[in-house]
Amino acid sequence: MKRIAVLGSTGSIGTQSLDVIRMHSDSMCAVAIACGSRIDLAEKQAREFGVKLVAVYDEAAAFVLKIKLADTDIRVVSGMDGLIEMCRMPEADIVVTAIVGMIGIRPTIAAIEAGKDIALANKETCVTAGHIIIPLAREKGVQILPVDSEHSAIFQALQGRADSKIRRILLTASGGPFRGRKKEELMYVTAKEALAHPTWSMGPKITIDSATMVNKGLEVIEAKWLFDVPVDKIEVVIQPQSIIHSAVEYEDGSVIAQMGPSDMRIAIQYALTYPTHLPSPATPLDFKMLKGLEFDVPDNETFPGLPMAVNAVRTGGSMPTAFNAANEWANAIFRQGEISFMQIFDIIAENMARHKVIPSPTVDEIFAVQDEIDAYCMEKYGNVL
Ligand code: NAD
Ligand code: MG
Repeated sequence: MKRIAVLGSTGSIGTQSLDVIRMHSDSMCAVAIACGSRIDLAEKQAREFGVKLVAVYDEAAAFVLKIKLADTDIRVVSGMDGLIEMCRMPEADIVVTAIVGMIGIRPTIAAIEAGKDIALANKETCVTAGHIIIPLAREKGVQILPVDSEHSAIFQALQGRADSKIRRILLTASGGPFRGRKKEELMYVTAKEALAHPTWSMGPKITIDSATMVNKGLEVIEAKWLFDVPVDKIEVVIQPQSIIHSAVEYEDGSVIAQMGPSDMRIAIQYALTYPTHLPSPATPLDFKMLKGLEFDVPDNETFPGLPMAVNAVRTGGSMPTAFNAANEWANAIFRQGEISFMQIFDIIAENMARHKVIPSPTVDEIFAVQDEIDAYCMEKYGNVL
């Protein structure tokens, strides 16, 4: 029985992780869940899966949940200490990190230190603290199993070929809802339009990141850390149907790609059942229904999210944190309707230009960079959060 803790259980990846666990209840179970504040759903999940512990970040919400669960033996903890306690709990073998944003850094480190394997969805943690978590995982002998569909595809294409040299990683992207549009056409697009993703149903933050191509930028950095490849060997390819989830090209020219329906439960499940492929709730691909597979190059002029991320990782040190923190801020206020779509890029560029790079930032320094960027943005763009 694989015992799983789901950090961010009420979100898109979290609920789909629980779908997978429900389907394979003979070989896996959920022992703990954590969320930000959606306690109605967390209560339902806690009761259904009979977890031992629920961590709720929001103190007031945690207090209410404690009362709601008073008739059970389920323990409720709160705040960052609560998330960390959940990640360290002795009853768990693996933590699915499905929380959104770099707030996942401390819980992820706590889980690795406690010897838990990580099914990693929370890419912002890998992007900002990859230089800490990857060596730490190696030192502790824990596995970091990718949940992001592209990274799951790359991971699968790498199986059994440890002695072969990679020529390129081909990281695919759908191009998002605004693919094909030009800058002038993006001036007045709303958050609602940006949230209508053509091929994937995901949480709001990553959906906006997909529209700006920041998501692909974060994924290039994530791939660099997860697979230890230089960024020059990672090429982004637009594949609008989201059928090819990514590929690895070897030295002889062989390209091994992973294909499948755009259903995150396949990637989540593989991280939980690796190296075995088990039946999945996802509807299988029907090749007869496929009209074709298209490919294109990314439009870096219109969507500078990707080249800015590549610059950030080339600069290294704390620059990916500056890129990510500015984006987290801009993404959030765009969703609130406070800035325009194109301003997201201006805010990231401005904060990267101002940022004084720290060569190998500690966790405290990473959060100090985020605080500084939040304070600057708040001052400049008004008290809108
Ligand atoms: P989401 O917004 O749907 O869910 C986020 C979850 O994190 C929720 O359960 C929320 O309660 C929890 N959370 C937020 N702040 C918290 C806090 N302070 N303390 C505790 N919990 C908190 O997000 P999502 O789309 O599921 O994405 C989660 C992560 O997975 C992100 O890093 C995203 O980039 C990555 N990812 C998502 C998808 C997808 O299909 N949704 C695909 C690939 C990668
Ligand atoms: Mg992805």
